[in-house]
Amino acid sequence: MKWLTLSWLVGRIRGMEIRFHFSMLFSVIITYFIFRPVNSRDGLFALLWLIGFVLSIFLHELGHALAAKLVRVEVKSIVIWLLGGFTNLSREPEKSLHRLSIYAAGPFVTILLGLVFFVAFYGSFNLPFLWIDVSKMLFLSLAIVNISLFVVNVLPVYPLDGGNILHALMELLFGRSNANLITMIVSIPILLCLIGFGIFTHDYILLAFCILIALAIGTLNRQTQHWINLGLSYLFKRAGYYFLQGDYERAAQYYTRDIERESGQVNHYIGRAYCYLLMLQKERALADVERALIIAPNNVIAIQLHGDIYAIEKNYDAALEIFERAHQLNPNWGNPSLAAGLF
Ligand SMILES: [Zn+2]
Repeated sequence: MKWLTLSWLVGRIRGMEIRFHFSMLFSVIITYFIFRPVNSRDGLFALLWLIGFVLSIFLHELGHALAAKLVRVEVKSIVIWLLGGFTNLSREPEKSLHRLSIYAAGPFVTILLGLVFFVAFYGSFNLPFLWIDVSKMLFLSLAIVNISLFVVNVLPVYPLDGGNILHALMELLFGRSNANLITMIVSIPILLCLIGFGIFTHDYILLAFCILIALAIGTLNRQTQHWINLGLSYLFKRAGYYFLQGDYERAAQYYTRDIERESGQVNHYIGRAYCYLLMLQKERALADVERALIIAPNNVIAIQLHGDIYAIEKNYDAALEIFERAHQLNPNWGNPSLAAGLF
């Protein structure tokens, strides 16, 4: 899914990359369908509106970035995409007060922009006659857009800025684990209201947005994370679902089905090998790992598992040799304690 992160570098501010995500290409089409310009004057208006909108998002992100710089957190990049933007920090700031100021800076800029466009709207009455209509409409529209963005953005729903502000505030007052719980308790009812509203108004973009939010909320709590994993596995990978449930026998049956369907897919053999190993059927596990290694000799997980099986059989010389190879391929692997931890 690498294409999902495809973006173009459009500039650099003090070492910070400014990038446009490929979804921005659709913004031109969407703007066209919103305004449906019939003459050059309408076309110009649509173009200026789009520029103003993108600029508003960019300034919002720049607000986050500047606040991050102030608390000495390196900013890697700002990415502008179709539904907004995000600021990539090199690390999460440790202090919740620092996080609070970084998350609050974006919405602060947005509400400020809303006010600036309102002032510009009133100021544009003094412009030459020909430009009054275009600029009045433009400034008013951008003022409304920014104020609406602000209102949605500060909803106390994780991971919107408002949710992050709430989380940082709660952490400041009650500590990290309580902050996770409180943020979840506040986020979920609001999310449910948004989903209800989305269903009622047939707003599918809002519903898709809610799914993204729901997935993010899930990361706040291990238990929900576990349920999300289970749900996704059940939908897309039945074998993985039973594996997570600890029903290794049924998981192995589903892996066998997967192998019959896609015999060249190394992960099915590895999955089944893990099931066999956890059911203490070492020979069958070994056979599957060896098959996996024929398909993909450099698959580090298969190599690791191969070593684990030897370690369990107390053939430590062979195991160490294999772990060494896994470690060379990827320094995160090749640690025999993984096997010791399992058994
Ligand atoms: Zn923001």
